[in-house]
Parts: sequence; C-alpha cells; structure tokens
Amino acid sequence: MSRAPTTQQPKLPPLLQRRSGAMTRELLLQPGSYGLGMTHQTLLPDTTTTAVCGYCATGCGLRLHLRQGEAVGLTPETDYPVNLGMACPKGWEALRVLQSEDRATHPLLRDAGGELRRLSWDDALKEFCSRFKAIQSQHGKDSVAFLSTGQIATEEMAFLGALAKFGMGLKHGDGNTRQCMATAVTAYKESFGFDAPPYTYDDFEQSDCLVFIGSNLCIGHPIMWERVLRNRRSPEIIVIDPRRTETAMAATQHLQLRPKSDLVLLYAITQHLIASGLVDHDFVTNHTSGYPEFQQHVESFTPDVASKLTGLSADQIRRAAEAIGTASAASLWWTMGVNQSYEGVRTAQAIINIALITGNVGKPGTGANSITGQCNAMGSRLWSNTTNLFGHHQFDNCDHRQKVADALRIDVDRIPREGSWSYDRIIEGIRRQEIRGLWVIATNPAHSWIHQSDVRELLGQLDFLVVQDMYSSTESAQHADLVLPAAGWGEKEGTLINSERRYGLQRRVRPAPGEALADFQIFRAIAHYWGVGDMFDEWTDPEAVFRIMQRASRGQPCDITGIAGYEQIDRCGGVQWPWTERDAAEQPAPATQRRLFEDGRFYTPDGRAKLIVDSIASMPEAPDQRYPILLLTGRGSVSQWHTQTRTSKSPILRKLYPNDPYIEINPEDGSQLGIGSGQTARVISRRGQAKVTVLLTPTIPAGQAFMPMHYESTNLLTLSHFDPYSRQPSYKDCAVRIEPADRK
Ligand code: SF4
Repeated sequence: MSRAPTTQQPKLPPLLQRRSGAMTRELLLQPGSYGLGMTHQTLLPDTTTTAVCGYCATGCGLRLHLRQGEAVGLTPETDYPVNLGMACPKGWEALRVLQSEDRATHPLLRDAGGELRRLSWDDALKEFCSRFKAIQSQHGKDSVAFLSTGQIATEEMAFLGALAKFGMGLKHGDGNTRQCMATAVTAYKESFGFDAPPYTYDDFEQSDCLVFIGSNLCIGHPIMWERVLRNRRSPEIIVIDPRRTETAMAATQHLQLRPKSDLVLLYAITQHLIASGLVDHDFVTNHTSGYPEFQQHVESFTPDVASKLTGLSADQIRRAAEAIGTASAASLWWTMGVNQSYEGVRTAQAIINIALITGNVGKPGTGANSITGQCNAMGSRLWSNTTNLFGHHQFDNCDHRQKVADALRIDVDRIPREGSWSYDRIIEGIRRQEIRGLWVIATNPAHSWIHQSDVRELLGQLDFLVVQDMYSSTESAQHADLVLPAAGWGEKEGTLINSERRYGLQRRVRPAPGEALADFQIFRAIAHYWGVGDMFDEWTDPEAVFRIMQRASRGQPCDITGIAGYEQIDRCGGVQWPWTERDAAEQPAPATQRRLFEDGRFYTPDGRAKLIVDSIASMPEAPDQRYPILLLTGRGSVSQWHTQTRTSKSPILRKLYPNDPYIEINPEDGSQLGIGSGQTARVISRRGQAKVTVLLTPTIPAGQAFMPMHYESTNLLTLSHFDPYSRQPSYKDCAVRIEPADRK
C-alpha cells in the first residue's frame, strides 16, 4: 500500500524550546501546531493519502483525495484488509460533516446572564485551571472528574488519562465506552485473564457456523456483514434476537427469544452440547478450568425447561446447539444486545464457554468474539487510564505502578493506588456533591446517558462543567460553563484500534475551523497552564506518545514494542496487537490476519481459560398492568451514529433515515391501542415520556416495542440499572405504556 509523501517541520533544539516561554505558549495555541516547534504533518498539495474511518470500530480504510493539500473527496480503500474497497454511508460522508455551521470554532464561557460568550484560548485555559483548582482546594482533589470517549485517537486518550490522573491529580475518570464495551472487557478479563477479543475479520469468511447474539450486524456493522456475505462455505447463520432484524431475516436459523432470556438459552445450548457428546474434551482438559462445576450448573437447563422461559421450542434450541457442535469451525459474535444488559457479563461468558467447550478458539473461523462499537473503544479499553492503569495494567498492583512510572518517566507516587469510579458512580458522586467539577471530552452524556432527565439535572448542579467537542450545539455543550472547541476526524493525527485489535492511522487532511485545536494540542496546552508541562516534555506529538505507549506495553498481552512506527502501520494495512520486538526480529512483517490463542494458552496465571457460570437474575422492571410493554432500544439505520452530533450534519445521510423519533410496535398492539402506522403516540415510562411516530411492523413481537437510541427523547424513558460486574447500563429493558398522542 502506498503512503503519501509527507513533510515535517524540524524540532527546535531543546535549549531554544525551554528558553522561549512566550513563544511556547503562542505555538501551543496555534491551530495545526503541537507547540515547541512541532507541527502536524503537512501533505503535498495534489495527491491522495489513506486514513481509517472515525465512526465505528470496523475501522475501514479510506483513500482521501487532496486538492491544494486539503481533502476534497474520499473513496473506500481497495486493498485495506478490513473493508476491501467497501464503505457504509457514514464513511462516504465523513468529510461532509466537518463543514457544519454549528462547529465549535472558538472557546466559549457562560456569562452571568447564562449566555455562552467567546473568549481567547489563553483566557479559556486560565479559567479551566483556576476554576478546577479552586474546586479541588475547597472540596479535595477528587472533587473534579473527567468523562472520556472512544472517539478520539489512542495517543490523545493516553495523554488525557496521564494528564488528568498523574498531572492534575484527578482520581475519578471514566469513558463513554462504559456504555458499550465494559461488559465485554470484564467478561474477557475474568475468562481469558485479559481483555482480549481473539479474532480477525477473516474469521467471518472462514466460519461454517456463525452465531450472532444481540447483534444486528447488517445495520450496526454493515461492512462486517459484507464480510459474512463473502463467506463461500454456505455457513449456518444463527441469529439470537427478540426482533426479526435485517440480520435475522438473512439467517438460516432465527431464535426469536423473549427479551433477556439469552442467558437461559445459552445455558440450554450448552447443556445439549454436553448431553449430545459434542464437547471437545481434549481442549477442555488441556486448556480450561472449572469444567465439573460448570457441567453441574448447566445440567438443569434442558431444552425443555429453557423452552418455557425463552418462548422457543426445545427443538429450535437442540437444532442450534447441534449446528454449533458439529461445525468444523463455529464462531460466536456478540454486541450491545448482550453488553447492555443487567446480566451482560455472565451472558458474554456463557458465549465464551460455548466456544471453549467446543474447542472453537484459536483456529480460523472460530472464537467468542465481541464486536466493538466506537472507532476507538478498543483504544479506550487499553489506554484511557481510567478504571485500568495505562496499557491495561492495574492501579492496585505496585509492580504495575512502578513499570508504568518507568515507562512514562514520572515519579511513581503520582500514580493513584486504586482505579477510578465507573461512569455511573461518578454520576452518583455528583448527586452526593462529592463531584463538583466535570470535564467531558468528545461525548454527550446529556443525550446518551440512561435516565436522561436525571443526568441533565445533575449536570446542572455542578459548580463547573467543561465540554470539549467538535460541535457547540450538543445537548451537553448546552449545559456547559466552558466549551473548548476541538478538531474532528480528518483534522488531526493519531491511531485508532479497531474491533480485531488493529492499529490504523488517522490523518490531518483538512484544517480545523476557526480556532479549534486537536484534542492532543488542548491536552498539551492544559498541561502547560496547569503547571505540569515538564512532566510531558517527551509528549511532543502523537507519534512520540505512541513510542511511550510501546514502552508501557512491554510484556503485556497487548505488547506493541515491535511496531516500527506510523509508517509501518500505514504500509502494512494496520497492525494488530500484539506485535512484539521478538515477533519483529523473527518475522519480516506482521501478517494481515492474526488471531489469539492459537497455542491454547490464555492470560490467566495457570494459562487456562475459566468456565464461569452464575444464577439467572430477574428483570428489574418487567412489564405490568400500568406499563405493559417492554421497550428495547438500539441502532436505527446505517446512516445514523449515536447521538447524531455528526451524522445529522450530512444532507445525504439525513435523507436516509427518519428525522423524527419513531417507535416500532406489533400490528396486534397497534390495533388494541387504536394507533396506526404514521400516527403520533406518547410513550410513557415511570421516568418520562416521548412523542413519537408509530411504525407497525411484525418484526417486533406483541408486548414489545423498539426505539432507536439516536433520538434525544429515547433516554427520557430508560431505566437506570447496570450490570453488577461491569457497571454497564442496561438500555434494552424498561416497561412503558403507549397512548395515542391526542388522548388527554
Ligand atoms: Fe466507517 Fe464503520 Fe462505515 Fe466502515 S462501517 S465506513 S468504519 S462507519
């Protein structure tokens, strides 16, 4: 793969950097500069270059077409090993959403009258530091927290985590990845000993039986679905989903179970695999632990028993189990239908258990595979330095603290001895007034957090709220005291890690509007204004931070010490972790498709994967007489992304989805309620109500309803409850009633 020629400004000699304090500050705040004489890479005027897409965790490669050094168009990259020349509408429109009137172009501060008013970066950063420091001196260092994201570059989130925790002394910070991936992280960590999705996308094409649990791949990850369609083995495709989704319609078996009965179903599939002699006993004996207790636990979950709880027939359950057990390569894939659940971790582990006992691990076409959501959720999992220490080390392990301190060349006493509160605990901390200041980066809690009216009220109670974002119009920015304008994808550099552990490059192919700065620059400037700039002397630019991350990764399962640098990532079509110095010494280049656990050794102390089971939990808010319908939420269309801060800015994308909130209900419910398709209804939960357009569809069973998460009003309805192990919100089960909108 070719790489566009680049030029880079030379570094100033160190002495000059130190002496010229005034120049340093000026350079720090100059768009396109990293300060200290470093600038973003400058591209040649008329050429093309490549970058990975900045929306979802598929991580497609895009070719950017430049005129006079600026990207004017893009096409999917044909030889990138992820997408092979394909892109979804969001990727095609990635440049368009950068040109929007509501881009944040200057820092904004709320005045005494409640208006957001423009101020200089210098004043904004002084305000940032003085207000947060005042809160810390009055209420303790822990009274300021941060909420990070899976949407910025890995090096930026590493900088943020190090600056906030080691520089500013903040103890509590979490990311919006808590909303999408925390369950998979916890499940893998407990079962495999490390948060390690084992697969590579080639597994979609090498599998004889693909099982999708709580994943509407066609809509959520359309390019991954294209990879499934390239499978030439006529695979069995089993979809486990309460809705008859687009993916379910294309499946060979659709197990349309009752919502949240997936753990029962998975245990019943397991029971039938054992009862039918479809267990790979060699693999179980040599590579797992806990089999006797596991076998005993699932014994009572016969297909007949599970049939009553899931609404499926016992034959359907047996047929699915036998398809998995007899396939020469079976793979199991899950996403938010599992992760966003009050028993998500145990459900994910039930999936992992099935892969383990059938020996479907470490071989082509196999795996227990969590599909990630955001473009850099995987980067956040390893490098955000929030609940886990830098490089997925542990805060409470003194050897880990020392190792990270050495890698970062900082005093070990700067590293806290415990991880931070999870997102929900930070929100509860605001309620108890233990958190008084909050810094929100590239996420939109006022729209996306569960039980929205509650979180909005709490954001309003903060002494100081800073929102750092591309757009000044987000629901969260509207609550902010200070808005810091940030560059977006295409306006800055760094790496993103996709679902299959692949580091890919994003590039600066356009200038950011107005005075907006790359998040990297903002963190660098804050370090300077906070008075801890010296600690980050080495953090001059994203690639320098990448080298620090490499040092910190040494010896971890995610070791990347063998990656030669950004040039190699680009030339090789991305590089999957791990890629160690030893790998690099022994092999000429990383293979484009690599999976984990080929040797059957896991990252647990005894090298064995754990078979973990638990009892079934009951649904916290089951439908009843007053609220008889169970509301599920999820992705609406391939053209919408999360809270739509970006996708709503493209006129083309806007044409591809309904602009107003809607609800899908079964025609039977529609006729009982006296509501037809296209009519307006009120959806009411115990927490709030939303006005929506009704869509009658048989794809959703009677007694259930579905609303896309992209509309602001959806989370007015959702119930604040969480998986007890991962603290991930359970977005897909709350009781509602639906009324015609004109009923008084
Ligand atoms: Fe971008 Fe994801 Fe679409 Fe690929 S599938 S183009 S990564 S949004």
